[in-house]
This record gives sequence, C-alpha cells and structure tokens, in this order.
Amino acid sequence: MIKRLNWRVATLVSTRQETPTARTLVFDVPGWPGHLPGQHVDVRLTAPDGYSTQRSYSIANASSEDRLELTVQTVGDGEVSPYLTEVLEPGDQIELRGPVGGWFVWRPHSSPPVLLVGGGSGIVPLMAMVRSRGKSDTPFRLLYSLRDPGQLFYADELEKVMAGVEVAYLYTRIAPPDAGRAAGRLQAADLIAYGWPPETAPDVYVCGPTGFVEAAADLLTGLGHDPAKIRTERFGPTGG
Ligand SMILES: Cc1cc2nc3c(=O)[nH]c(=O)nc-3n(C[C@H](O)[C@H](O)[C@H](O)COP(=O)(O)OP(=O)(O)OC[C@H]3O[C@@H](n4cnc5c(N)ncnc54)[C@H](O)[C@@H]3O)c2cc1C
Repeated sequence: MIKRLNWRVATLVSTRQETPTARTLVFDVPGWPGHLPGQHVDVRLTAPDGYSTQRSYSIANASSEDRLELTVQTVGDGEVSPYLTEVLEPGDQIELRGPVGGWFVWRPHSSPPVLLVGGGSGIVPLMAMVRSRGKSDTPFRLLYSLRDPGQLFYADELEKVMAGVEVAYLYTRIAPPDAGRAAGRLQAADLIAYGWPPETAPDVYVCGPTGFVEAAADLLTGLGHDPAKIRTERFGPTGG
C-alpha cells in the first residue's frame, strides 16, 4: 500500500557553508519518521501572497540520526535554491515532506561492494550512504567528479581516512598539482582505475546532473557492469 506523505514543518537549526555557493542546512522536524540513505525530500516554500513552489533535495545525513540535513547548491537564477543558501536563517521554518524514493537507496546491511559515482551536488545522497555505512564491513569506493577544488563538499569529513571507504577526486576543469590525473570529464579509464571491476558485481549508485548520470551509466555498462545493478538519480530541474 502506498502511504500518503504529509507536509511537515521543519525549523532550521544551524548551517554549514560547504563552498562559497553551497550550504548544508540542519533541520529539526518533529515527528520525522527516519530515512534510508539515498532518499530525498520535497521542500515547499510559500510566499505571503499564497504563491507556493516546491523542489526536491536529497538527504545528506546518516540514517541513524533524528535531525535532517540537506546540502543545497545555488543555481544562479533559481527560484528556490538561492533562498535556501542565502536567505533562510536559524529559527526560520519551511515545509517538507518525505522521505521520498525506494529505489535509489542503500540498505546498510546489503553485502556486495558499493561503487558510488557522483557529479557536483550529486555527492549529497552518496554522502548519506557513506555516513550511514558506520561500522559495516561493506567496502565502498567513491568517485567524486567536481569542477575544481573550490567546489568540494564535505571536505573535512572526506579527507579523514575512513576504513573501508576509498575516495577518488576527478576534477573536470582545474585539478590541483597532486591530483594524479589531468582535469577532464569522467572516462572509462577512471572507472577502471578507481572503481570495482564488473566481476565483483558491485551495487552501483550514480547521481548528478542528467548529462553526467547518462554518460557515467553508459561507461559502466560499456565496461560490463550489469545495468540492473546500476541505480541512478538525476538532479535536473525538479520533475525533469
Ligand atoms: C531527486 C532530486 C534530488 C535533488 N537533490 C538536490 C540536492 O541534494 N542538492 C541540490 O543542490 N539540488 C538538488 N536537486 C535539484 C533541485 O531540486 C533544484 O532543481 C535546484 O535547487 C534548482 O532549483 P531552483 O528553484 O533554484 O532553480 P529553478 O528556478 O527551478 O531553475 C532556474 C534555472 O536553472 C535551471 N536548473 C534547475 N535546476 C538545475 C540544476 N539542478 N542544475 C542546473 N541547472 C538547473 C533551470 O532549468 C532554470 O533555467 C535535486 C533534484 C532532484 C530531482
């Protein structure tokens, strides 16, 4: 039976600036039922004149926590994202409903190796999976494609050594001198060098802008990964 999701009032508790144009918002949501890593919420904003609009945002924090964290990247001429990243202040309230999604989720007790491939803000639900992994012995490999080092989300956390989690940064425009790889888009060679071989039958999660997700999924299937094991989430305009 499909359960109807109710809108809930969420109060912003604190924020963390991830990059000059992205911030993490920590919400208190009374009655929040909990979530699985990979799920998202719908956020609804309503203006004083009654005009209302909604967008989807992935949940960033571990499933074991009561609070809810979203990380939002400002889209220059966007209607909702600049409000969330620049205007909303602790104590302010928004409406949200969720958790939404049952396919793009990692269940912490599943056992095959996990390959996470994220582009830009597509790192958000993948980070929820990394954070939810806890002491699980499932080995994780994360390939994080980003424009330049200034766009890195969760820098302090990702740079700490996490046993069982290997992280490769794939810069598309500007790579730092020690990157070990020239700047450029994700290629099959990156998936071979930093991913799992198809024979290990990993559970694969790909998230990011639509073009990135389609290119990555094509490369993965071209290398022999089973399309049925590749789960994708596209961050195009909501509904797109
Ligand atoms: C399931 C799902 C999960 C998502 N999770 C996140 C998340 O964790 N963090 C996050 O920052 N965003 C996420 N998004 C994207 C988010 O829902 C919005 O699309 C984004 O914040 C832009 O909304 P806006 O109102 O600011 O822009 P809009 O007013 O909707 O659009 C302004 C302009 O930007 C273009 N545009 C809209 N969205 C994007 C985009 N994502 N990338 C590039 N151009 C865009 C539009 O075509 C338009 O030209 C997710 C989307 C989906 C579908």
